[in-house]
Amino acid sequence: MSQASYITKSHPPIPLDCSQIQTIFFDMDGTLLDLHFDNHFWLEHLPKRVAEHKNVSPDAAKRWIDDHCSEIEGTLNWYCLDYWHDLLQVDLVPLKHEIADRIAIRAHVEAFLTHLKQQNKRLVLLTNAHQKSIDVKFKYINLAAYFDRIISSHQLGLAKEHQDFWPKLEIMEAFDKNRSLFIDDNLQVLRNAQAYGIAHLLAIREPDSKLPPKDTAEFTAISCYTQLMY
Ligand SMILES: [Mg+2]
Repeated sequence: MSQASYITKSHPPIPLDCSQIQTIFFDMDGTLLDLHFDNHFWLEHLPKRVAEHKNVSPDAAKRWIDDHCSEIEGTLNWYCLDYWHDLLQVDLVPLKHEIADRIAIRAHVEAFLTHLKQQNKRLVLLTNAHQKSIDVKFKYINLAAYFDRIISSHQLGLAKEHQDFWPKLEIMEAFDKNRSLFIDDNLQVLRNAQAYGIAHLLAIREPDSKLPPKDTAEFTAISCYTQLMY
């Protein structure tokens, strides 16, 4: 199938001059991978296991986790498995493995990454996920080899939402912000990248395949990666 034949009326091409782009930064969860795994983990599976562990009702465990999540949302702790381990006295890693059948790569991701590699673009995975969460995902899916570099925000000590994130990243990874594309499903993260001056930004229309499409406000959103392959 030619790349052009992928394009459909519901997935029109997104105009993007790839010749102007050197580096593409990709978020992981909700961007390359279906966010359903993470939503199911945090909203269903973890509360269930914590309820068993603490001998409370699943609803009580869910409320407690939800309340705590809203307090620390957007901080590195939200994403830190060691933080949750200390807080809950529960190791989240084996619990993630229990539902690993829900880990899934979004449609046409591999084709898009191959398409970019063929154009000699630098591909960087840039995730807030903790290294242990990355390891869980990469045990079941085969994406690591596509990337020139994999960076967890935990290596920088700042979440992608933090205003000092991009200046700190620039010390670790050389890039030209005028010639970089950043794809992420988190609008707060995209706005922070925009404030820093990353020239090309794209959101994701449907990060969780089990939920309705999301309003991505001022950002152009990818419904399907084939929209960028023409
Ligand atoms: Mg994400």
